[in-house]
Amino acid sequence: MHHFAYRDGVLHAEGVSLARIAEEVGTPTYVYSTATALRHYRVFRDAFLPTKPAIFYAMKAGGNLSILRTLGNEGAGADVVSEGEVRKALAAGIPPERIVFSGVGKSEEELTFAVAQAVHQINVETPHELGVIDRVARTLGRRQDIVFRVNPAIGAGGHAKITTGSEDNKFGVSMSEISGLYAQAETLKGVRALGLACHIGSQIHELGELEEAFQRLATLVRALRADGRIVTRLDLGGGLGIHYEDDLATVDKPDRVKAYADMVLRVTRGLDVEIAFEPGRLIIGNAGVLLSRVVTHNPRPQKDIVVIDAGMNDLIRPAMYDSFHALRPVKEPMAGTPYAAVDVVGPICESSDTFASDRPMPALAVGDLVAFMTAGAYGASMSSNYNQRRLVAEVLVDGDRYAVIRPRQTWDELIGQDRMAPWLTNA
Ligand SMILES: *Cc1c(COP(=O)(O)O)cnc(C)c1O
Repeated sequence: MHHFAYRDGVLHAEGVSLARIAEEVGTPTYVYSTATALRHYRVFRDAFLPTKPAIFYAMKAGGNLSILRTLGNEGAGADVVSEGEVRKALAAGIPPERIVFSGVGKSEEELTFAVAQAVHQINVETPHELGVIDRVARTLGRRQDIVFRVNPAIGAGGHAKITTGSEDNKFGVSMSEISGLYAQAETLKGVRALGLACHIGSQIHELGELEEAFQRLATLVRALRADGRIVTRLDLGGGLGIHYEDDLATVDKPDRVKAYADMVLRVTRGLDVEIAFEPGRLIIGNAGVLLSRVVTHNPRPQKDIVVIDAGMNDLIRPAMYDSFHALRPVKEPMAGTPYAAVDVVGPICESSDTFASDRPMPALAVGDLVAFMTAGAYGASMSSNYNQRRLVAEVLVDGDRYAVIRPRQTWDELIGQDRMAPWLTNA
């Protein structure tokens, strides 16, 4: 469930009207609900009780400082994939001992920064990276805790572009390489190998695929121990899917999270390891909407094309992953309002800048407000300046109050990012 609902005929985020936010902050704007994000975090955490796993929020799903602070205050750590994310997590007040550094191609510079900060764990993906961490840590006089990200040769997820666990994709160490690498790590003074990690994809609904991957990890843990290796940590990644289609109904069913937790506890029973997770989408996905305004219509003989002021630079998921977002008019349609199929597109010069095709919608007039539901994950965090559009604004609602947590970029900021080459400036 989430805390976006019609009140007095207007879509609200908790106690705040989206019409008011659009008036005061403008559009397009992401609006997040604190209560929703906290609820998802707690549902996930409590599904494992009495076990208390470490939860590292995958901040690439949504990395605003205020969102990080909100979750950090609740005890969440951060799963980060770049130096920028380490820095942002720290700036939000998440301590290094609650930061896990994942990522396919961490540079030496990034690793040096993370090791110097003494982050909780680095998830190692290649033999070369192992060597770099060891060298960097020794130079800094540290010993860095690491786990190996295993590629369990099981791809899962809602789309080929978000599958990360197949044998032939770029993520993680092959099962067959782990034992050698783990043994090697135990000879290195700069690292302490503590266990394994995996993350096989995103938007996964099929628990069977996750279970199979976790089984393989459990088998690997036993094999490593049989070889005398010390294994105390298992990081099971993120990837649990959410419901994009039916956002106003029972969106996420807590029993689904419970089924996931039960499966994990069953698979890891008796292993005696610390369990960790890196959920992103599940926490922030339906805690955010993208608020936008109708700019114009392009009436075609077959159907109407509704052009809105949000573009693929603000929300790229439909263009990149063919993903579906429910679209709600901010003004509640009256009972019996006729719906007609329309295309809903953005203003960007790309055909892929299309949010919805043949979508049944009530008549939308120029100036009307709409909200893309379940846009909190991989929305603002993937936004860009394409077409020289200013970075989209973000708002956080908490009960009856709201705050702009990322102001819309100014024109000066947009233009000021560039520099004129000296030979082009007039003397
Ligand atoms: C993206 C990512 C996650 C989060 O995935 P979700 O599907 O958003 O839960 C977790 N771990 C790693 C390593 C990731 O790259």
